[in-house]
Amino acid sequence: MTPIQLFDPASSTYTYLLADAAAREALIIDPVDEQLERDLAILRERGLKLVWSVETHAHADHITSAAALAEHAGARTAAPQGCNIGTAAVQLRHGDVLRFGGEELRALHTPGHTAGSMCFVWRGNVFTGDTLLINGCGRTDFQSGSAAQLYRSITEILFALPDETVVWPAHDYNERSCSTIGQEKRTNARVAGKSLAEFVKIMDDLNLPKPRRLDEAVPANLSSGLRHDAGGNDGVPPPAQGYAGNIPPQTAYEWWQKGDAVLVDVRSDAEREWVGFIPGAANVVWKQWPGMKMNADFDEQIRQAVPPGKKAVMLCRSGARSAHAARRATELGIESYNILEGFEGDPDENGQRGNRGGWRQRGLPWRQG
Ligand code: FE
Repeated sequence: MTPIQLFDPASSTYTYLLADAAAREALIIDPVDEQLERDLAILRERGLKLVWSVETHAHADHITSAAALAEHAGARTAAPQGCNIGTAAVQLRHGDVLRFGGEELRALHTPGHTAGSMCFVWRGNVFTGDTLLINGCGRTDFQSGSAAQLYRSITEILFALPDETVVWPAHDYNERSCSTIGQEKRTNARVAGKSLAEFVKIMDDLNLPKPRRLDEAVPANLSSGLRHDAGGNDGVPPPAQGYAGNIPPQTAYEWWQKGDAVLVDVRSDAEREWVGFIPGAANVVWKQWPGMKMNADFDEQIRQAVPPGKKAVMLCRSGARSAHAARRATELGIESYNILEGFEGDPDENGQRGNRGGWRQRGLPWRQG
């Protein structure tokens, strides 16, 4: 089994998708927001359920799609404890293991590029983030970086892995795909054969320009990719409690069955095909995550879908997007309600749903996509 290596040309970032093909569960490392649609399409094509979205560190050169993947794919988010990504559901410590299907990803704390940076080991592979690059390494001159710490992380933690371990970096600027621990030990221009003092001198003398997106990317990445505009809004839906017209799934079902309401599914085509759909529901997609195109035709489509005199009951995955859609439809004069917990709700921090189920957990009718 090999990781699927994906590339974002704008930031030269590699994203990795790992899967347990039998269990159909997947984990993604360092996803990029501009590539959200691509990543959702790959998951759909391969019939994979994304269970984890994981960061190697708080990036300065691109914005993560972790929060969007949590909403659209139901993934749980994990990030190194030392990176202050407070929105991540799981704060990883050295040695922690994330499971997907029968597979395990193991976290190694490798400070240096940033104080919180981690690498991840899966089978004979190590995902090195910006700690170790092919014939290079990440810079250490901002975000609490330390050249001395990076030297120790590379030479004592990563170089302790078997020589044949495949190295998958977070970036490459020369179209190289991967390397091995053995190769980097022998030929890495910054560390191979270098003393700590020589390495620190090399790093101190780099004098690199500030990353183009530093001021924008780091704050967004500290909240899993949720961007804050000047007004303090996230640019993403508020929690369902922010909309007054919340109703439980059962109520929505009853209104719909009686013919009083139109059930409007605002999830994307990809989500319905992949997670499951409700036969007979109207489909009017609400798109407003960073990296997704806004749908300017929502107003027209919702007016067509809901005849005068009927209510609209709105459903998304967890009740966040549908709260926004219901609010917008209300502005258009349609009596609209948001279905709490949506199609499947959100599990708690232990991955359990308990009483928090959505449409599907409550036994209401739906079909596999
Ligand atoms: Fe970085």
